[in-house]
Formats: sequence, C-alpha cells, structure tokens
Amino acid sequence: MIELKTADEVATMRESGRVVAKALAATREGAKVGTSLRELDQIAAAVISDAGAKPSFLHYHPSWAPSPYPGVICTSVNDAVVHGVPSDYRIADGDLVSIDCGAYVDGLHGDAAISFVVGSADPTDLDLIACTERALYAGIDAARAGAKLGDVSYAIGVVGREAGYGLMADHGGHGVGRAMHEEPYVPNEGKAGKGLRLREGLVLALEPMFIMGGRDQYWRDEDGWTLRTVGGTRAAHVEHTIAITGDGPVILTEL
Ligand code: MG
Ligand code: MG
Repeated sequence: MIELKTADEVATMRESGRVVAKALAATREGAKVGTSLRELDQIAAAVISDAGAKPSFLHYHPSWAPSPYPGVICTSVNDAVVHGVPSDYRIADGDLVSIDCGAYVDGLHGDAAISFVVGSADPTDLDLIACTERALYAGIDAARAGAKLGDVSYAIGVVGREAGYGLMADHGGHGVGRAMHEEPYVPNEGKAGKGLRLREGLVLALEPMFIMGGRDQYWRDEDGWTLRTVGGTRAAHVEHTIAITGDGPVILTEL
C-alpha cells in the first residue's frame, strides 16, 4: 500500500532529512586517509544523537540478512556497492567511499547517501560519481505530480547506460515514511510514461547505483551484508529523500 504524507509529516521528514544530511557531511569531513570505517560510524552516531534523532539502520533486520544490522551507516568502499558494514578497515589514498545514512524524528525516516574519493582521486572515479549524481538529479526532476513512476526510473537509468555503466541489479529506490522501506519500489531503469501515477504527498528515496565496466551483477560478501561488484570494479551510490509537492519535487535530505 502506498501511504501519501500530509504536509505536517513532510515537515517532520524535512527535520529527519536535515539530520541525515548533517551526519553525512560530518562523515565526509572526517574521512581521511587512515580513518577507519568504524570511526565514521561513530561520527554519524554522535550527530544523530546530538540532534535528538534515532538511527534508522541500527538493528534493522530484513528477512534476507543473517543478523540485525550492526551500524548506524553503511560504508561501501571501492567494489562494495551498498550495505558495507563499518569495520576496522582504514581508508587508503584514492579509495572511493559511499556512505548511506538513515535517521528518524517522531517515527518518520530520512534516507540519503553520498559517494566521494579520499585523497588523490582517479579521474575515472570522479566521472563515475558525477554521473551517478547527475542521474539522481534527473530522477528528482522527473518526480512531479501527474508524471509516472516510469518517468523517474527512465530518467535515472538512461544517464548511467549512456555513460556505459552497469546498473546494480535488483536494487533501486523506494517509498519512505513511518517505515524506512515502503512501497513503491523505484527501479533505476524503466519506461517513460509507464507505471504508477505520481501524486502530491508521495515521498520517495531515489538512489542510483552505478558500476564501472558495465556489468549489473553483484555478489554478497561473507559478512552477509556487503554487496560487491562482479569483477571487482568500482561503484558509486548517491541518494536523496524527496517529497512530491504542488510546487514540484522538494529534497528533504539537504542541510
Ligand atoms: Mg539509503
Ligand atoms: Mg534507501
């Protein structure tokens, strides 16, 4: 069932979204060569707690996972696409780091992710990240009342395919609200003009995940969570939670 949000609920989600944005900015700031992923998790935990919010990911236990999630953020480095568990791994020069964070205020969740390179960047990594961000903003721009869900999926996917990147199989965006993952599922590739008609009050997390080398497949690390690219190529993941309003799409997970 798709739950449309009231203006009051969207206002609360703007608060949780702002907390998520702050936590992501702090982890980005704290991510230096030699910083451990667990330290980044602690930075995000402190920002969320100081804001009086609660972390969405900690102890989250979807049916496919072996155990409740042990972190506040996901830290996916290089060939890890998503769901990387914060570990004692220390960031090396040139690592491509993706951080995904969720937090809730009054039971309403915000969900966002960023990708960046620490230290000296390979230009191909920067291109991958820039393309993934471009796809996210193309998807946001297509998310308007009266448009179709397929317009959003198409807008995201065409950017990645035209650049020759793989699109992470079986993974995409989603509705978000009282649950972190709500209907509808938002594929990162689709047909314009098809699918659900978008309405005011719909809140979506859009999250392109692009893979260098053009392959869509992934495999699950032995930690049971981290999803890695087949072939070990690098991947980028960016995400915003947005509300569809009468004035167009509004990004909730900004500062
Ligand atoms: Mg997320
Ligand atoms: Mg999400």
